[in-house]
Amino acid sequence: MESNGGVDESSQLLMELQSLKDSKREIEARISVIEAQLLRIQAKQQSNLKPSSDCSNAISEFGHDLTPDMIYRYSRQLLLPSFGVQGQSNLLKSSILVIGAGGLGSPALLYLAACGVGRLGVVDHDVVELNNLHRQIIHGEAYIGRSKVESAAAACCLINSSIEVVEHKEALRTSNALEIVSKYDIVIDATDNAPSRYLISDCCVLLGKPLVSGAALGLEGQLAVYNYNGGPCYRCLFPTPPPTSACQRCSDSGVLGVGKLTFFPGVIGCLQALEAIKLASLVGEPLSGRMLLFDALSARIRIVKIRGRSSQCEACGEHATLTRQQFQQFDYESFTHSPLSASPLKLKLLTSDSRISSKEYNDLIKTGSPHVLIDVRPSHHYRIISLPKSINIPLASLESRSSEISSQLKTAHESNETANGSDDVGIYVVCRRGNDSQRAVQLLHKMGFTSAKDVVGGLESWSRDVDHRFPTY
Ligand SMILES: [Zn+2]
Repeated sequence: MESNGGVDESSQLLMELQSLKDSKREIEARISVIEAQLLRIQAKQQSNLKPSSDCSNAISEFGHDLTPDMIYRYSRQLLLPSFGVQGQSNLLKSSILVIGAGGLGSPALLYLAACGVGRLGVVDHDVVELNNLHRQIIHGEAYIGRSKVESAAAACCLINSSIEVVEHKEALRTSNALEIVSKYDIVIDATDNAPSRYLISDCCVLLGKPLVSGAALGLEGQLAVYNYNGGPCYRCLFPTPPPTSACQRCSDSGVLGVGKLTFFPGVIGCLQALEAIKLASLVGEPLSGRMLLFDALSARIRIVKIRGRSSQCEACGEHATLTRQQFQQFDYESFTHSPLSASPLKLKLLTSDSRISSKEYNDLIKTGSPHVLIDVRPSHHYRIISLPKSINIPLASLESRSSEISSQLKTAHESNETANGSDDVGIYVVCRRGNDSQRAVQLLHKMGFTSAKDVVGGLESWSRDVDHRFPTY
């Protein structure tokens, strides 16, 4: 039958597609390895160091497996009685995976490379941008527009060409997580989104890997070691994701939200490196069953005891149901109601007749069309940059300041009457990216300002499509 022929053909095509995708993945993995090898060679050529000896575990004439180069390089660590030769030797044999080469991952990677972790993996799919550099200190201006993983690996190799740095230029997803994580002893979660936290924790439970989890938001930070030595996993503590809110902070559950608005995330990133080093070198007491809370403003660090492994936990409890197959099919984005990729949210709340593009708005200005432009961003945003003649009424105070809007309309109307007699005065609303402006327009319509329209894509689209000199932030 014709329809069966169609099914056969499509399943054949699907199989071919899958096989091509598999080949593509293998080729990409090989490319990553070769690129990493090249970087290492280049870093060696740049450094004045003698080519270092390999990190093989052979016991040398010194009675341990450290080479003369290693003894000199790591001497300040070796002299610490609690760390010593054994700690360093353990570290050199260990492998640590850092997921995320951003604000937390940057200092973590630098320290891990410097102190001699044998094999260091970096996972990230993002590219370096100028506004990353104030906090993602592993990247430099030369790498803007290039892969964060490539940039981080190069920086690590420049510091220490005797270790192995493995590049994973991809987002960690359920499809690749088990394979990538299985190659390492210890995992550092340095991501900035909720689905990744659960995904990484579940993956570590399935593979029996200790997880050093860090979070930083605003001026606060959190740190804990999960799934270590019978201790709890992330799900034991937070079986259900915190509700997503505009401020991304859920004080009820005590879990620190995730976001990019961090200042000095490196404090937590350094502590993550330290915890990973303790785990790898078998030195000290890891932060398992406890959580470190950091408050930058008060310069206060507190350690709180957290509950132990939950017998009810779906990932690691007594009747845990999580299997590798389920993991690979689990939808972490819908579970947490937030996206895996940190790309900004793009809402569409309005119909096209309540919207105007930034180019159309520019045409309207050129023709001198009378209107009122309301900028609904918070005032500290408005102070960074704003469009001429806009008035700043933050979204939260729109209702309470409706009389102000009426009087602005009246003024625009009167001046227009003097000019050409038309009484058609529009209200336009702008924000940073075009989400809050839509919420504001919905509210304005309810308040009776039915002609209100939003500028699609906000000031970012103005900068992109109308005036390239207008700064974005
Ligand atoms: Zn658990």
